[in-house]
Amino acid sequence: MTLAIDAGGTYLRGEIYGANGLLKKFREKSSTIGLAFWIESILKENTDIKVICISYAGQVKDGVILLAPNIKIDIPEIKSYFENKYEVELFIENDLNCAVLAEANFLNEEDICAIYVGTGLGLGVMSSSKLITGFSGVATELGHIPYKETPFKCGCGKNNCIELFASGLALKNWKKYKNIESNLTLQELKSNTESNKIYEEFEKALLYAIATAITLFNPKIVVLGGGIIDSNPQLESIISTKIVNYAMPIALKNVKIINTKLKDASLMGALMLKARDE
Ligand SMILES: [Zn+2]
Repeated sequence: MTLAIDAGGTYLRGEIYGANGLLKKFREKSSTIGLAFWIESILKENTDIKVICISYAGQVKDGVILLAPNIKIDIPEIKSYFENKYEVELFIENDLNCAVLAEANFLNEEDICAIYVGTGLGLGVMSSSKLITGFSGVATELGHIPYKETPFKCGCGKNNCIELFASGLALKNWKKYKNIESNLTLQELKSNTESNKIYEEFEKALLYAIATAITLFNPKIVVLGGGIIDSNPQLESIISTKIVNYAMPIALKNVKIINTKLKDASLMGALMLKARDE
């Protein structure tokens, strides 16, 4: 059996697959339990698990967790820990890298950027079918490119990251900072004169970020996903129209910007990690 895990900033979600498909599902709050401890509790109850595949909302390199702002890291050397202690194989990769693997496979594309706007702003890049990971595994951290100083500190330690404007957490922070009602949606922020500036800053920062990814990686297709995109699908056409004012024209030529068609790309990508290793 295979245990697939989506270790996100809010929830740890697990699914066990057997020969005939999905068998069981688990969910736990990321803030309440360490990832390794949680996996061990699942392994004790499900001794037939032989493969563990993890999509991780943080930085990972060669089976070692380097950094995660919102997940409890109890065992950084997670791959060697489980492979030495149990009879399992473990594969772990950054969540956006997992997402872009699944998106590239689904769309059958070789040059693709997956940009997800959820709690944070993330990017995964496949260039000529190769995943871009960088020297220490932290390449393509789009949310943390320097943009403008803010009154808030980012999870990475800086105060000028672009995701401090273009992310779900940014919207929450700015609403609080400007005394705007916290449950206003993105659409409501846009149509309200008092809060319109927050929306404008969000949209502009998102366009800058997407244009930067297009200019740097020259993808054929940009796939948008994540919680903010899921609840605001209209961003697809807004971005497709306005991106011409932001991206380098030659890099933008014939680029398609679309919303994801996948429900759970990160988890699907995690399940592909074993086959990629063989
Ligand atoms: Zn940052």
